[in-house]
Amino acid sequence: MFPKRRVYQVKNTKGELIALHERIDAFNGKKRVFWKKPDGSYGLDRPLVDLPFFGSEHVSKFVHFPVIVCEGEKATSALLDLGIPALGTVTGAAIQPRDVSILTQFPVVILFPDNDDIGKQHMYKIGRVLEDTYRYMNTKVFLWKHAPEHGDAYDLVHAVAMDKLKFVYPSILSLAIPFSDWFVALPVKPQVFYLDDGHAPIVDVVRRFMVIKKVGSGCWQGLCPFHDEDTPSFTIYEDTNRYFCFGCLAQGNTVQFVMHVHNISYKDAVEWLHRL
Ligand SMILES: [Zn+2]
Repeated sequence: MFPKRRVYQVKNTKGELIALHERIDAFNGKKRVFWKKPDGSYGLDRPLVDLPFFGSEHVSKFVHFPVIVCEGEKATSALLDLGIPALGTVTGAAIQPRDVSILTQFPVVILFPDNDDIGKQHMYKIGRVLEDTYRYMNTKVFLWKHAPEHGDAYDLVHAVAMDKLKFVYPSILSLAIPFSDWFVALPVKPQVFYLDDGHAPIVDVVRRFMVIKKVGSGCWQGLCPFHDEDTPSFTIYEDTNRYFCFGCLAQGNTVQFVMHVHNISYKDAVEWLHRL
């Protein structure tokens, strides 16, 4: 058996080649991956988190159908090869794409995590960002019941008999559960890392707009900027980098605070934060 070499092309929605992901599966079960620029030289011309989803060039064709989100090109290709609407993250499971807005164009987003903890956390973070940042509420999760350890869409497709492949997409659609139900079922609630918040601790940002007072360890309060009040209900938690108002129930992260206080888009809020 020889090592198997595959080269995946990561393209944007216009079909322009952004990067090449070369994957070598050695016969000892180890895999090696390399990034190459469109000209074939090694490396990337942008941060990993700024790469488009794998399969983005097909989005205009299947934007009216539920899309399945996989981790990595191999799993995504297995579905795309069957004509199933799919997009894949290319960041690796430890982080998630900075911009997931492409997913909000679809009527339903079905997250298909790899069958391991880091894979589940990876998809969980994407679902959280879709809900928290974009208020996108049509996210579902497909949990493959009989998946092997680390099993993904590639393994699923290869476990299905040839004449049953046409049932893969409808089965995933019907077995997917609402994201909110999964959120409750997760044994350990992973900490969501909002990349754009990393630069901007919420206390420092909120301070530019209002007076806040420390009321406990890692906890601050002030008069809510989103509703009229005489006693402070607006609370900031340093450890999660989020705010919550007990008066009007407003809540969110640093980016959302800037969005709401300036009444600007997510993208503009991120740009505003990067100028700080
Ligand atoms: Zn409020």
